[in-house]
Amino acid sequence: MSQEIEQVNCLIIGSGPAGYTAAIYAARADMKPVLYQGMQPGGQLTTTNEVENFPGYPEGITGPEMMAQLEQQAKRFEADIRFGFITKVDFSGPIHKAWTESGHEIHAKTVIISTGASAKYLGLENEQKYLALGGGVSACAVCDGFFYRGQETVIVGAGDSACEEAHYLSKLCKKVTMLVRRDEFRASKIMADRVKNTPNIDILFNTETVDVLGDGNVVTGVRVKNNVSGEETDVPCTGFFVAIGHQPNTEIFKDYINLDETGYIKYEKPGTTLTNVPGVFVAGDAADRNYRQAITAAGTGCMAALDAERYLAALEG
Ligand code: NDP
Repeated sequence: MSQEIEQVNCLIIGSGPAGYTAAIYAARADMKPVLYQGMQPGGQLTTTNEVENFPGYPEGITGPEMMAQLEQQAKRFEADIRFGFITKVDFSGPIHKAWTESGHEIHAKTVIISTGASAKYLGLENEQKYLALGGGVSACAVCDGFFYRGQETVIVGAGDSACEEAHYLSKLCKKVTMLVRRDEFRASKIMADRVKNTPNIDILFNTETVDVLGDGNVVTGVRVKNNVSGEETDVPCTGFFVAIGHQPNTEIFKDYINLDETGYIKYEKPGTTLTNVPGVFVAGDAADRNYRQAITAAGTGCMAALDAERYLAALEG
């Protein structure tokens, strides 16, 4: 690609459901969007096995397949989908500047940020192994809990997400064991109480995960350690859920875009996708600590494209 500065109407950063939906809408509106896929083309859904809750797929679909279809749909309308990622931006002027990893400079009239968020994991070797194998490690109970109906699961974390997900799992699973590393929850009292009052949730305080156990293909249990007594025990389970928080992928925008205290992009005006920088919009999990679903990301992707289209129309007067 030439090192000349490229001028574009609409630059979309990120390729999850938010980015691809924005690309479909922007391309159909003749905005000739250019989309950079980022480090993980297809986004978080590419680490999910089966997606059963996205409307329109009565038989379900795998995450990677769904993302390939969204990409194809965007390409059908000639969205320019590129493998590569944006490493730097400058949103200080009316033209929004961005640079790719190879140093290619892009000047965009509008930018849609759809860089998503990444679930945090413990980083244990076997956790990563079974996650990659699709063998029983997940960071999303709403996505994957259904596959563990009637089975025993373990969830690690003590915040609102962990409590919400443990409660969700308790309705599907025979037993849920919750691993809390301190002697108290971080979650709000109401969420913690709900977990404490659910009979099939067993809470182990002062407990850390030592290892994820398995048969080479699927998870069979979790080795845990009481960090007060030092005692190690094995908890049998078929599903290991990690709910220790998410990290929005917003680092490169922080000098220009208003973020909340944990790094999520703040919407300038509720009910829109506007950020504090005119012409820069945000869609999907980069601004959503709450819902974090493919369908909600797709919805805000559509909104961002419509907002960008209106902004361009006003520019062109
Ligand atoms: P939080 O950062 O609030 O909680 C993370 C939890 O994971 C903490 O309990 C932390 O333990 C634990 N943790 C972190 N690292 C490890 C580790 N290595 N091993 C074991 N445990 C670990 O993240 P959440 O995703 O729960 O929530 C994020 C935000 O979203 C919060 O503001 C929350 O209130 C909000 N939220 C609100 C909901 C609602 O109101 N319905 C639902 C979900 C989220 P420790 O406490 O010891 O630090």
